[in-house]
Amino acid sequence: MKNCIFCAIAAREAEASLVYEDALCLAFMDLFPMRPGHILVVNKRHAQFVHQLTAAERAHLLETGSRIGQALRATSLKPSALHFNINDGKAAHQTVPHVHLHVLPRYDGDVLAFVGGIFGKPVQLLRGGTRREQLERQASEVREALRRLPE
Ligand code: AMP
Ligand code: ZN
Repeated sequence: MKNCIFCAIAAREAEASLVYEDALCLAFMDLFPMRPGHILVVNKRHAQFVHQLTAAERAHLLETGSRIGQALRATSLKPSALHFNINDGKAAHQTVPHVHLHVLPRYDGDVLAFVGGIFGKPVQLLRGGTRREQLERQASEVREALRRLPE
């Protein structure tokens, strides 16, 4: 889809710190993370809404997110918990109209930082997001943890 940032990332026409890719989906570090280690699992085929995916694509998105969450738990980021979240439409805070599953780490006692992540988004946007080197370091750790996960 033209003018879609996630389609551009999937086509390697835009930069991203990739953690995983297969025939149906890809996963990369969120450029404006709500908390450190925030990852997006993106359906490769463009569709805005969850109901527009095939059953196989829908199931695969959660299955992949689950493995990525498991891998994240094994990295030095060591989240205490995770959100698996899909914003399905503009009124539900979907800002990129291409289906994606947020795998969002949470840390004990991080409520203030989490709320700061929500309200600090405009500042992050102005700054151009997290430094690419940091995202690459995190992506590389997650890729390594994924390699070590049992099938
Ligand atoms: P949503 O609000 O559910 O549509 O989430 C979109 C997510 O995409 C947000 O968490 C953004 O920080 C993230 N995002 C936007 N542009 C990029 C990008 N170029 N690379 C990585 N993540 C992005
Ligand atoms: Zn798209």
